[in-house]
Amino acid sequence: MILVLDAETEIDAALHALARYFAEDRRCAAVRLQVQGKPLGYLNRGDFFSAPTGTRLGEAQGAQLPGSPAYSFIRLACPVEGCETLVLKIHYDEQDTPRCPRHPDKVLQIVT
Ligand SMILES: [Zn+2]
Repeated sequence: MILVLDAETEIDAALHALARYFAEDRRCAAVRLQVQGKPLGYLNRGDFFSAPTGTRLGEAQGAQLPGSPAYSFIRLACPVEGCETLVLKIHYDEQDTPRCPRHPDKVLQIVT
């Protein structure tokens, strides 16, 4: 699972969306964070909810469950069967479609 952000200004929305994502998908233990093409390491569920930011977001989210639709990810998956690439994005630009890191000739498709 890779969380791809095109701008640092998206981080706030991404953290909100991630709080929601972790709450909805209990199997997801960590996401890899990439901002403007630079890998910034992993955000894991435990750290996320124990960190002051995560806790605050968790509380904010609990106050308005099931969460604001404004803070959800666009999910993009690789069309190659069996490929596990899943990219989370806040904004999707049709002019700049992300490609699978394992299959660079494949454009990722929106998962609905
Ligand atoms: Zn792939």
